[in-house]
Amino acid sequence: MKLTFFGTGDGRQVPAPGCHCRACLRAIEKPQYARLTCSGKITDGLDVSLIDATMADLNQRQQAGSFERIFLTHYHANHIRGLAAYKEAEHVTIPVYGPEDKKDLEDVFENPGALKFQRPLVPFKTLNFGGLQVTPLPLNHSRPTFGYLFQQHQGNLAYLSDTCGLPSTTSAMLYGYELDVLVLDCTHPPSHQADQDHNTLSQALAIHHDIAPKTTYLTHISHELDCYLLDHLAELPDNVIIARDGMQITL
Ligand SMILES: [Zn+2]
Repeated sequence: MKLTFFGTGDGRQVPAPGCHCRACLRAIEKPQYARLTCSGKITDGLDVSLIDATMADLNQRQQAGSFERIFLTHYHANHIRGLAAYKEAEHVTIPVYGPEDKKDLEDVFENPGALKFQRPLVPFKTLNFGGLQVTPLPLNHSRPTFGYLFQQHQGNLAYLSDTCGLPSTTSAMLYGYELDVLVLDCTHPPSHQADQDHNTLSQALAIHHDIAPKTTYLTHISHELDCYLLDHLAELPDNVIIARDGMQITL
């Protein structure tokens, strides 16, 4: 099983529009430090699942027909804008899985074209795709949102990209679970006022210590956090890694 990060940034991305902070200037000079909006894909042998559709040009990166399904974490506009091109795809159907959420989404579900929206997922109810098991985990966000636990024989990985803290049900399930990889929302530097939608670095590290995975990768990173990390990266635990666009994790 392999996770590929397409994007590891927050909605403003890095460089943020018009910003001249140190992190944004670095990303302009050295594109390997740029961050697109948080998303990725899980590859298990020949089976490919996209996680979110944050990029308008997603179809250029991952042609319809070259993957099996899409898991949406939630239906905020910047996480589904890549669906539009897939609606137009010919000769394929693309199953789309996500949480129960219909509010103000008529334009998303109307005329789905090649997209086949599946019945809303049930929290903690595991789906099987060949050898890959996928379990939706509720998260704390301003729309109904799931993280996903991916398991197969080589290991397991929890992808929790849009959350502030964790609901007690999700942390209870992951607490004591022998997690190989935790991919976790870490949007803000520690000084940021908690915003109900995303973790600060302090919150993310608290979750890392509670759940105690072998390795944690931080994602959904803002330019403010990248600025903070320019001076504080060495303070992170050895098994906490800052994810970058294009990075791959193989289990
Ligand atoms: Zn900036």
